[in-house]
Amino acid sequence: MDYEVAVRITRRNHNAFVHLLAALESQGYDLSNVLVSNNLDEIIEKRPKVILYSFYSQEVDTVKKEVEKIRKNINAILVAGGYHAIAMPKHTLKVLGFDIAVIGEGEEALYDLLTKLRKTNYTITKDLTEVRGLAFYLGDEFVFTGFAKVEDFWKFPPYPEGLKLISPMEISRGCPFGCYYCQTPYAKGFRMRHRPIDQIVKYSKRMKDMRYITPNAFAYGSPGGILKIEKVEALLRALQPLRREGRRLFYGTFPSEVRPEFVTRETVELLVKYTDTKRLAIGAQSGDDKMLKAMHRVHRVEHVINAVELSLEYGITPVVDFIVGLPGETEEMQRKSIELMKWIIKKGGKVRAHYFMPLPGTPWAKCKPSPLSEEMKKFLGRMAAEGKIEGAWGIQIETSRKLQKLIEEFYEEPFSYVGKVKEIC
Ligand code: SF4
Repeated sequence: MDYEVAVRITRRNHNAFVHLLAALESQGYDLSNVLVSNNLDEIIEKRPKVILYSFYSQEVDTVKKEVEKIRKNINAILVAGGYHAIAMPKHTLKVLGFDIAVIGEGEEALYDLLTKLRKTNYTITKDLTEVRGLAFYLGDEFVFTGFAKVEDFWKFPPYPEGLKLISPMEISRGCPFGCYYCQTPYAKGFRMRHRPIDQIVKYSKRMKDMRYITPNAFAYGSPGGILKIEKVEALLRALQPLRREGRRLFYGTFPSEVRPEFVTRETVELLVKYTDTKRLAIGAQSGDDKMLKAMHRVHRVEHVINAVELSLEYGITPVVDFIVGLPGETEEMQRKSIELMKWIIKKGGKVRAHYFMPLPGTPWAKCKPSPLSEEMKKFLGRMAAEGKIEGAWGIQIETSRKLQKLIEEFYEEPFSYVGKVKEIC
């Protein structure tokens, strides 16, 4: 069978592509033309006219090798989407070797791009300048057609009908907090938008374990910065008939999380009453108030302590995220993070440690990690050996080093949903 388009699906881009394919289909794109495969050799063998990628900056080495392999074997138009393409489009095109970068939210841009490419018999012409949300080269000229925004992303269903694909469902998009290390607000906007409850219920029927994608599960129904408890409750209540049919409902846990100041007695009671959640993923990031302020987290350590205590009181294990080696983090600040991590572990919670990675498209993109104190290294090593700390901080040290090199060599001003991204370093 001949395919016009292939999707290079991976573990990391799976959820995004499930939603994108649903959006393509709902706009009238025939998915029987689309091969979705995690096997690059299969994609090459089928010789599609277009291959779609979506990836993070942490993956660029692997992606570059794959592009080289494709180029050696077939002549296809290579399209890149995702956080790296938005933040470093010139690198994506010139260095990684893609033909087109999708800039912004992809639902409509990708549909317009694929229909336009079909009309131009799969050649890159100036007709593509009519499609919003693209970057590409016309000869030597770099063309950018504007940032693609999909205000009401929920007008597209989450799952395609024509392909048997399922994933946790994206229920909210955007985040107002603007933590300096995070790409979400700059790629998806500062205002949170939400999929309506009836649609969430309708499509949740397809999941056995109901899980959701959102930057902050307790911000459901709000512009993002405040808790609207009645909206969260309305959603969870509406999902109860599906629980009674035997599905389990997980909320505020993998693959989403909650901000600590949104963990209140009322929100935790909702989890107990309406969900099967046993682990609550809480973003703490540091045990030092000055550091929290410097990274623009807009909450304090006391919120983390309160969130942990409340979760434990109700029999839910708090799984608390920390970032170590943050820019400007002193030994004293690291000592405070260690104290907080120790306290959480002693109380019966879990800690997930991450090492600071400068991500393109964020205010901290050019910032360097701070060295880890001897005390921090010993603590993390000991806790990891005893199985008391989760998280990939060890591997992330190497990834962080690669990202710093990438940014030093190829920095470009990122495109963003919100205009110019502040540069802190
Ligand atoms: S880290 Fe979380 S709260 Fe902060 S900007 Fe990103 S999504 Fe929002």
